[in-house]
Amino acid sequence: MSIEIIIDRCTGCEKCLAACHFGAIEIVDEKAKILENCNLCGACVEACPFDAILLEKEEKPAEGLEDYRGVWVFAEQRDGKLQSVTLELLGEGRKLANDLGEKLDAVLLGDGVGTEAGELLAYGADKVYLVSDKRLRHYQYGIYARVLIDLIREHKPEIVLFGATTIGRSLAPRIAARIQTGLTADCTGLEIDKEKRILRQTRPAFGGNIMATIICPHHRPQMATVRPKVMKKPRPDSSRKGEIVKVNPKISEEDIVTKVLDIIREETKVVDLQEAEIIVSGGRGLGKAENFKLIEGLAEALGGAVGASRATVDANWIPSYHQVGQTGKTVQPKLYIACGISGAIQHLVGMRSSENIVAINKDPNAPIFNVATYGIVGDLFQVVPSLTKKLKELLS
Ligand SMILES: Cc1cc2nc3c(=O)[nH]c(=O)nc-3n(C[C@H](O)[C@H](O)[C@H](O)COP(=O)(O)OP(=O)(O)OC[C@H]3O[C@@H](n4cnc5c(N)ncnc54)[C@H](O)[C@@H]3O)c2cc1C
Repeated sequence: MSIEIIIDRCTGCEKCLAACHFGAIEIVDEKAKILENCNLCGACVEACPFDAILLEKEEKPAEGLEDYRGVWVFAEQRDGKLQSVTLELLGEGRKLANDLGEKLDAVLLGDGVGTEAGELLAYGADKVYLVSDKRLRHYQYGIYARVLIDLIREHKPEIVLFGATTIGRSLAPRIAARIQTGLTADCTGLEIDKEKRILRQTRPAFGGNIMATIICPHHRPQMATVRPKVMKKPRPDSSRKGEIVKVNPKISEEDIVTKVLDIIREETKVVDLQEAEIIVSGGRGLGKAENFKLIEGLAEALGGAVGASRATVDANWIPSYHQVGQTGKTVQPKLYIACGISGAIQHLVGMRSSENIVAINKDPNAPIFNVATYGIVGDLFQVVPSLTKKLKELLS
C-alpha cells in the first residue's frame, strides 16, 4: 500500500491534520506532507474535501475465496460445561448464516465431550464437529490451534467466530496468523454486507472514542472474537435435528508446546458479574470507598453481585473486576440497579441490555434515567438503606 498527496489539489486546509490520530501529517509551504509514522489507516483520505490524498491498496485477493462457505462457531467448554458466549455466538451465527444462505456449524473440542453436541444443535447449529481426545482435556493453545487449523483447511468455512474470553483471545490470533487471514478482536457488532457477501465487524477503537467497522475482503475465513454478553442468547429448541461428525485429531509431539500438570483454582468470593442475574452498581455519587458497603448490603439482600462505574475504579474505591462498561464488563442481568451513576455512554454500553434497570440518582436530568425501566430521583444515602431494609423484611 502507498499514500501520496496530490499537490495541485491540496489547499493546506488542515482537515487531514485533524483527522490523523497519529500526528503523521504536517503542513509544509501550505501543502500537506505525510510523515514516516503514517500507518496507512486512510482516515485522512476520507477527511479531505478536495480528494487530494491518494491511498493505493495493492493487496491482491487470495485465490479460491469462493470455495469458503458457511459460518462456524468455536464451542468453548470448560469442565464439560459450554460457556454462555458459545450459545450467544450460535444465535448471532444463525443470523449471519441465514443472511448468507449457508449452514451454521459448531466445533467442540475436549476430552469425553459429546453430550454438549445436542445442546449446540438445540441452540442453532446445523452440524457439530466433535473432537474428543484426552490430550484436549485442558486448553493448550498448541494442540487446540493444530486441530482447528486442520479442520478449517479441510472444510473451508467463510466465517469463524470465537468468544472474546481468555481462551478465545489466545486461540483465534494464533490460528489467524498461521492460516494467514485477518482477525477482528473484541467485536460488539456483526452483520453481512449482502451485496459483497462479506462480514462487517464492528468494535470500539481508539480507546472507545469511535466505533470501527472492519472487513476482511481478500482472505478467508473471516475471523472475529466477540465480547461475551453483547449478543442475545437464543431460545433453545430441543426438537432441532442436526449432524454430529466425530473427528480423529492428528496431534503431533511438536504441537504440544506446554503441559498442564495441575490446576489449582483460586479461592475467591468474587461473583462472576457476567453470569449474575442481579447486579447493584455504585458510582461516584457514593462519595468515598467506605460507602460501597451500602451497595454490598443491597446486593446481599437481593442475592446479587456488586458492579461499579469506572470513576469509582479509577478512584481506587473498588477493584477493576467490578467495572461495568466499555472498558469493563458487558453485563445483561435480569435486574441492574445503578446507584449514584450518571449514565455516561461508556457505562451504558456495558449494561443497557439488562432486562430491568433501576436508577437511583439525585439529579432528575441524569442520562441514566433515559435507559431506566424505573427511576428513583433521590439521595442514595436515604433510598438505598430503606430499600435494603424493606427487601430484607420481605425476603426473610
Ligand atoms: C475511553 C473511555 C472508556 C470508558 N469506559 C468506562 C467504563 O467501562 N465504565 C464506566 O463506568 N465508565 C467508563 N468511562 C468513564 C465515563 O465516561 C464516566 O466518566 C463514568 O462512567 C462516570 O462515572 P459515574 O457515573 O460514577 O460518575 P459521575 O459521572 O460523576 O456521576 C455521579 C452521579 O452521581 C449522582 N449523585 C451524586 N451524589 C448523589 C447522591 N447522594 N444520591 C444519588 N445520586 C448522587 C450525580 O447526580 C451523578 O449523576 C470511560 C471513559 C472513556 C473516555
